[in-house]
Amino acid sequence: MVAQVIVDVVHTNVARPFSYLIPQDMPVCVGMRVLVPLGRRQVDGFVVALVPDEQTDVPPEKLKPVLRCLDDYPALLPPLLALAQELALECHCPLSETLRLMLPAAMRTGRIQLKKALYAQLADGVDAQKEAQAQRRSTKRATLLRLLSSGEARAVSELAQLVNNPREGLRALEQAGLVRLFEREVFRAPDGTDDVSPTDAPPLTGDQQEALEAMLPSLRQGMGAFLLHGVTGSGKTEVYLAMVRQTLALGKSAIILVPEIALTPQMVRWFRSRFGPETAVLHSRLTDGQRYDEWRRIRLGHARVVVGARSAIFAPLENLGLIVIDEEHEQTYLSDKHPRYDARRVALSRAKREGATVLLSSATPSILSFAMARRGDYTLVEMPHRVHNRPLPQVTIVDMRRELESGNRSIFSRLLIQKLTECVESGQQAMLFLNRRGYNTFVSCRNCGYVVKCPQCDISMTLHREQGEDGPQEMRCHMCGAVSPPPEVCPECGSKYIRYFGSGTQRVEEEMHRLFPRVQTVRMDIDTTRERDAHARLLSRFGSGEAQVLIGTQMIAKGLDFPRVTLVGVVAADMTLNLPDYRSQERTFQLITQVAGRAGRARQPGEVIVQTYKPEDPTIRAAAAQDYRAFFEMEFSRRRAGLYPPFTLLARLLVESPREMDASAACEQLYSTLQAYLQSHPQQKKRTLMLRCDAAPVKRIRGQFRYHVLLKGFDHPDIAPLLALMSELSAVSPEGCHVYCEVNPATMM
Ligand code: ADP
Ligand code: ZN
Ligand code: ZN
Repeated sequence: MVAQVIVDVVHTNVARPFSYLIPQDMPVCVGMRVLVPLGRRQVDGFVVALVPDEQTDVPPEKLKPVLRCLDDYPALLPPLLALAQELALECHCPLSETLRLMLPAAMRTGRIQLKKALYAQLADGVDAQKEAQAQRRSTKRATLLRLLSSGEARAVSELAQLVNNPREGLRALEQAGLVRLFEREVFRAPDGTDDVSPTDAPPLTGDQQEALEAMLPSLRQGMGAFLLHGVTGSGKTEVYLAMVRQTLALGKSAIILVPEIALTPQMVRWFRSRFGPETAVLHSRLTDGQRYDEWRRIRLGHARVVVGARSAIFAPLENLGLIVIDEEHEQTYLSDKHPRYDARRVALSRAKREGATVLLSSATPSILSFAMARRGDYTLVEMPHRVHNRPLPQVTIVDMRRELESGNRSIFSRLLIQKLTECVESGQQAMLFLNRRGYNTFVSCRNCGYVVKCPQCDISMTLHREQGEDGPQEMRCHMCGAVSPPPEVCPECGSKYIRYFGSGTQRVEEEMHRLFPRVQTVRMDIDTTRERDAHARLLSRFGSGEAQVLIGTQMIAKGLDFPRVTLVGVVAADMTLNLPDYRSQERTFQLITQVAGRAGRARQPGEVIVQTYKPEDPTIRAAAAQDYRAFFEMEFSRRRAGLYPPFTLLARLLVESPREMDASAACEQLYSTLQAYLQSHPQQKKRTLMLRCDAAPVKRIRGQFRYHVLLKGFDHPDIAPLLALMSELSAVSPEGCHVYCEVNPATMM
């Protein structure tokens, strides 16, 4: 047999399988990682197929042999190999790139080692009690024998907590043939997952029971896709838990995808407390070692429930029965790196191939998913009530223009201040939401209008000011992280009249402290959560009640369940409404509804104050009413009228170059190529609504100038050759440029 190997090198020259001879006795099989010669180098590769000698195009005597296997099991399961192949086609990228998604990065680079620990076990046939009594000269050895008397192997490190320095005694016992010492592999556990005590499932509510019963028949048959639309606080997590329990009972395994920022210790504990060590966790805050070990626990079948962020969709589970996608409307399910896959589409494809059920879930489903459910692609399951019929929070819209008119220049309206006062005085908790970090959002000259911009990016810099009014200040770029001191005079005109505009979370925090000096607050945004365990620490300060007010960006909008929160303040609701993106209404609706949903989740009813300069805006009104249907109908007609997705598709060729001339010239060139193509293909031209060549909305990022050719067309099979051409064009980059092909990308910035 000959092995067909995809080498782990990203280059178009090697983007096809190579044949290698399999030496006698080498247990090579499909999916295995192997070391192979490539030219003068030795490289890693994946075996993607085994073929009989006579079927290769190269005569066997010319083939080089596989050097060795890199693992003693196939790292890639056959369905995941098929998935990688499909994804490479869909994302217009080489197979080696999608194969990389399937493994922890540290495994490929070989930087990570298995962790071994010394174990001790009673030797076969030894009577521990009798031997312990015989150990007259050493009580330590006697104790060790008693500790091992069950016959189970125990870690020496664990024995060391019970007996001082057990090693010498153990060695002596080993020499006497009473104890066996050996190394065993141990798995590095993610932080906060050990010592979670088990809990029982509560009796399900009527809504939950109905939802479960609607889905169970499909789960048993290993098929079906559901969209669970449940209001905030309807207890969707408990439905996932019940579904997972059923899945395990069928002898199958489950993946639960959660947005990265909702992967709080709270969520993880929930699963751990029900499924114990059967639960594996995969997210970006794990160390390389933890991730590698969790991955191997899954691959070896020790864990059958995987809770993780986007890339956990590739978890190496066998016998997959269920994939849950929590908060399915979240952008994080679209990969922001190449290959740009959509975890929801991958989930549907994987589920179909492996015979699993898919459950998409949200209080605010994406327009796309809800439209698909209406069309019958998904079965819609609804949970319209909160658990125990608790009311949805009462929402009040405050017109911030009125506040200004009546002389209130604070970022808090009088009503919000009054409600905050009541809330803290009655010992309840509050959350303040503002989707912008930093202190002031931009800095500009009053004389000439100059705005301080990042020298590397085409965006204004944000003023950061830790520790209040007199703390140290700096300007930061939220795109590339560049830092500079704030200007003392205008670099354009020399004027001293520099002004600061717009507010971020730091300013909200400062204002809180000014108004309520005695109230403890916690702030959660990218700036306060850089350290690996910061999330857990900050949330536990709030959860324990040590802090009474939680201030944050979208990081606090979803997933959190704190029973004592009765007040939520949305400091500036229209912040996301003005972004140049056809999805800005959808985002605004989702954010306000989700953050409002954090209030009144337990016995005390909740109240929400939404501050806005556009109180009549229909999106804000629908969000305040928490009326998803009304919003959906409105937004769906707007998209139809404006010919936006899902009625059309958007695609672009993005050109990046450190030289603006190069980027714009290359872009023009691509544009003419596509235009000429369309001229000669009238059928495709008919399906094209717009083809345009332009600077990207953010013209420069990290010193790279960005231009794009933008295509808007009907999502119709006729247009497929045009997309294929775009993909081809992106594979060859003109001198000094990089070209990317993106179809319906997460953002068009
Ligand atoms: P959602 O994700 O739909 O917003 P959660 O799953 O966070 O809601 O549940 C909201 C709250 O209700 C949680 O505190 C949860 O423990 C509680 N809960 C859910 N189901 C039940 C139930 N059947 N009985 C009692 N409490 C429940
Ligand atoms: Zn100036
Ligand atoms: Zn920058």
